[in-house]
Amino acid sequence: MWQQTAEEIIMDEICVCGKNTTRKTSWTDLNLGRRYVVCKKFKQVDGCAYFMWLDPPMCTRARQIIPGLLRRVNRFEEDLKKKSKRERLFWVALLVSWAIMFIMAM
Ligand SMILES: [Zn+2]
Repeated sequence: MWQQTAEEIIMDEICVCGKNTTRKTSWTDLNLGRRYVVCKKFKQVDGCAYFMWLDPPMCTRARQIIPGLLRRVNRFEEDLKKKSKRERLFWVALLVSWAIMFIMAM
């Protein structure tokens, strides 16, 4: 499974410049939820150009579905705002795991 491989690849990753790399998640529409590794000096003056995607590119179908899915989650969160924090966390976790299963099933 690519998730496993991605975890192994980034273990103790240090950039060629000697700095640690940071793991981030992209939230642009084209790469929604796609994780990447970037050098801590990336985009800095005199910085480093180290940048690597961890996750494979999203297929067209995922690009069409995920933004809508996230909007649904956001709307759901709105509804839950009045409820307790603990309950809200539970529902968000549930929806996120559901979304992950949904993506992996595609
Ligand atoms: Zn670097």
